[in-house]
Amino acid sequence: MKKGKKELQKIAKKRIKNLINFVINNSEINYEDRKKVLELCLKIWKKYNLRNFSVFKRYFYCKNCKELIIPGETARIRIRGNKKKYITIRCLNCNQNRRIPLSK
Ligand SMILES: [Zn+2]
Repeated sequence: MKKGKKELQKIAKKRIKNLINFVINNSEINYEDRKKVLELCLKIWKKYNLRNFSVFKRYFYCKNCKELIIPGETARIRIRGNKKKYITIRCLNCNQNRRIPLSK
């Protein structure tokens, strides 16, 4: 039986999440390898048309300079706020600040 589109998207999302977690949890892997992993994420994201899956887009891709955001390398990420928490991402490439509210 062929897998439906939704099923495939679900798998793709899982793969992206795993890849992102891998990058975050393995700070010893070098910049080039990390960039490759994140580029792979972007490929999967595009291939499966995961427009509704914004996690990757929001957190790992700078809309301003189209540079991949790698926490600690190409961006500073801070969590701020008391009652309403939000993340500030500062892209070190273009110095653009972005605020992302943390829902849930
Ligand atoms: Zn940027």
